[in-house]
Parts: sequence; structure tokens; C-alpha cells
Amino acid sequence: MRTAVDLHIHSALSPCSEKDMTPNNIVNMACLKGLDIIAVTDHNSMENYLSVLKCGRGKKILIVPAMEIESREEIHLLSFFSDFAAAQSMQRIVSDALMKVENREDIFGRQLVMDEWDNLKGTVKHLLLTATELGIEDIIDLVDGLGGVVIPAHVDRESNSILSNLGAIPEDLKINYLEISAECNLEEYIKKNPQLSRYHFIRSSDAHHLGDILERESFLDLEEASAACLIDLLKRK
Ligand SMILES: [Zn+2]
Ligand SMILES: [Zn+2]
Repeated sequence: MRTAVDLHIHSALSPCSEKDMTPNNIVNMACLKGLDIIAVTDHNSMENYLSVLKCGRGKKILIVPAMEIESREEIHLLSFFSDFAAAQSMQRIVSDALMKVENREDIFGRQLVMDEWDNLKGTVKHLLLTATELGIEDIIDLVDGLGGVVIPAHVDRESNSILSNLGAIPEDLKINYLEISAECNLEEYIKKNPQLSRYHFIRSSDAHHLGDILERESFLDLEEASAACLIDLLKRK
């Protein structure tokens, strides 16, 4: 089946996102836009995942456990999991590997943890938008070992992307998909970077505002709309 996806959305937990990126607002906006599958990919944390999941109950939308992990090389890596327990294991590893710098809310913004009714449960005190001590290969291996998959985020951007920070994609990395940002013209991008034509590409919003969540414009063909099928596809060469 053809599914419309947006696999890169930030909730109000990410310091850089709008504070109306609440669990209910995200799910309702994604439903309004007709999306079949979304992932809330906060920086180095998935503390709002269960609340978003609960908001999606009874609605025709799949919400995949995910995170945007920052490697030691300051590369942003989207990681997706087929089950919550595996994602939680990775969350613990990432949390231990995160440099614990106090969040300056006045500079970076608040990091809101919310329940499924959008009530504030608390805030994360250490800054989430920072690098972990894990190298890119470690992250890919760890996520793979937990049955998940990694997609390098916004490869067309000039900061925090695998190409901007490493200059090229090492041949032996277990990577089959690359994410391009909403504004990227894929045809022109591949023309300029022909060495990337061996990868599959997926477009996501990296939404920090509700209005930025994609319309039905980024599609994946899945046997069924399940996290397991999604992970399977993203692992395929
Ligand atoms: Zn990013
Ligand atoms: Zn992001």
C-alpha cells in the first residue's frame, strides 16, 4: 500500500520547536493533512512519544517510535524502531552518552514533557540539542542491534548533516536511505551529487512549527502500515 509519511517532526520537547507542538496538535494536524505514518523525532529523547501515541489511538495514523540522535561528529541521525521497548533501550544509551549541560531556557528554549491531554508534566533540565559521545558507526550499530534503522537527516543542509560534517558517506556504513529536507529539489541535488544515486531518498519536514508538517507528498510503499514493515523497507538496499 502507498502510505503518505512525515518521519521527522519535533515536539515541544525539542528546545528549538514551537511550544504549540503538543502531542494533540501534532496528531490532529497530521490527520488533517491526511498522513498515514508519522514519527516524532525529538533531539536525543523520546520522552513525549507515549503521549503522542495515546493521542493517535482510535485515529487512522501510525506513530513510529523514533529519535533524532546527534553523534559525536555533530551529525543528526534519525533512528526508527519497530517497538517501544527497543526504542527505550536506545533512549537510555543516548541519555547516558549525552553531555550534561544545563539548558539555558532563555537562550535555547524550554523542553516540555507533556501528557496525552497536552498538560505540562515537567521540563528536561539538561540541554537535549547537543552531541552525544557516540560516533556515527556506534549509533548505527546500536540501533541496528535493537532491530531499528538509521537514516542520516537533512543531507542537503550545510550543518549537522553527514555530508557537511564528513564530506562523504563512508562506503561501509549500513545506510540505504538518506533524508532530504522539504525544500530540496531532489533531481537537481542528485545531478550535483551523482555519487549519491545508489541511495534511496525520503523527504521529511523536520517540522518545528505545526504548519510545516508535510501534506500527502512523501510516499513509501509498504505491505501494511506497520512500524515493522516500515523498518524492513528502510533497511532494504
Ligand atoms: Zn536535525
Ligand atoms: Zn530535526
